[in-house]
Amino acid sequence: MTSQFHPKNDATKRKQTSPDSESSSTCGPQPSAWNEDASRRKFFQMAVGGAVAAAGMGFLAPSSALAQSLLTPEQALKELLEGNKRFVAGRLRSFFQDLAILRNHTSEKQQPFAAVLACSDSRVPVELIFDQTIGHIFVTRVAGNFTTSEVIASLEYGAKVLGAKVILVMGHGSCGAVDATIQHKEAPGQISALYPHIQPAVDKAGPDTDEASKANALIQAALLRQSSTVVSGLVAEGNLMVLAAFYNIGSGVVSLLE
Ligand SMILES: [Zn+2]
Repeated sequence: MTSQFHPKNDATKRKQTSPDSESSSTCGPQPSAWNEDASRRKFFQMAVGGAVAAAGMGFLAPSSALAQSLLTPEQALKELLEGNKRFVAGRLRSFFQDLAILRNHTSEKQQPFAAVLACSDSRVPVELIFDQTIGHIFVTRVAGNFTTSEVIASLEYGAKVLGAKVILVMGHGSCGAVDATIQHKEAPGQISALYPHIQPAVDKAGPDTDEASKANALIQAALLRQSSTVVSGLVAEGNLMVLAAFYNIGSGVVSLLE
């Protein structure tokens, strides 16, 4: 998330380089991006798939998840969980999609069907464990996967502006941030600034790292639902689902906690 968050720059770029491009920008929060009609997305999906087929390169057409506006929250969740099953089974499909085409078709916009708040842990590669690729998941990561104003703002953007239909708040096994909080570890620099965010989960679940991590995911998901009127509004409309989840780093399985 760098220059994408400068709508003025985005608008200028679109005007200069792609006068006929759709009104939705990659990240530019213009209202029109919120109301992009389904037929355009359908066209986009078909265009991408058709280009792959025409190329005859043997790659799979990018997933229908690109047309995220056509998915319900339940379908978006199903897409994530089925991707995780493929990951666990070692039958990834995302690797066979043509990355050059995906980059090309997402260079001016993005349509992620899901958002994930995950830990920074290197053993939690979000796209990989859901068997997804470029443009599919709006990912926010911070050690301990907790909500702050900035994290909530990011997720609001992913859901309200970009149209993600499900937000998973995902803890994981053997989380160093949770463990450090449990142990009140002395840490260099500002690392201990993480602890107060995770402490409520430790207070609730006790000193078991994985149990505290699960409690933390549940607490943070509830906080997200309660503290964001944008998120709660989308949930009330039936356009968004927010769920806590837990990733088992040994088995690769993502389990819903609620
Ligand atoms: Zn972690």
